[in-house]
Amino acid sequence: TRRHCLSTVAQHHPHIQEVLLPKQAIEARVNELGRQIAADYADKRPVVIGTLKGAVVFMADLVRAMEPPPPGLELEFVRASSYGAATVSSGKVDLRMVGPTAIKGRHVLLVEDIVDSGCTAVALLEHFATAGAASVKLVSLLSKPERRTVTCEPHYLGFPVEDKFVVGYGLDYAEQYRSLPYIGVLKPECYA
Ligand code: 5GP
Ligand code: MG
Ligand code: MG
Repeated sequence: TRRHCLSTVAQHHPHIQEVLLPKQAIEARVNELGRQIAADYADKRPVVIGTLKGAVVFMADLVRAMEPPPPGLELEFVRASSYGAATVSSGKVDLRMVGPTAIKGRHVLLVEDIVDSGCTAVALLEHFATAGAASVKLVSLLSKPERRTVTCEPHYLGFPVEDKFVVGYGLDYAEQYRSLPYIGVLKPECYA
């Protein structure tokens, strides 16, 4: 029936102009990354460290896609905020671990939502290396290579994206849209 047809039309949030990465595409890629990382870390007892809050949704799916589960895997979180103007990363990054984390001698896998200028990821990777990690690698769901101001190539990457501000799957605009199960671009009128 017509009503049935209408109910099966793909619906997304009214503020979203365009879905760049649908739920199914993210799921497929996260599952691939999970299996690859599980193989690489099978004997490393990794400490998987997610950046709050943006990487939480990706991290939750990624660690459950690690098959078989790496023995000894631990989860930790770090808060990173960059100083300076909102649109231009100053390169100064303030980082706070959530709870005490022993890094020395551990294989650290940093989980990021997106690498933009690269400043945040580089600061965190340097911090863990300085803290005596046995190895430090970066997995990021998204990367905007055109936007780099510092050299930063994720060791594992979900998707490169063009230079558009994206939300969903953990990523916010003014703390909104993190729970959307896809990555999308906001309608221009939704920016304050
Ligand atoms: P970077 O230090 O690499 O310049 O910035 C990384 C951080 O900037 C990300 O973790 C994220 O919080 C924010 N960011 C960069 N690009 C985007 C984007 O397109 N959408 C959202 N929601 N946040 C972004
Ligand atoms: Mg982040
Ligand atoms: Mg944000």
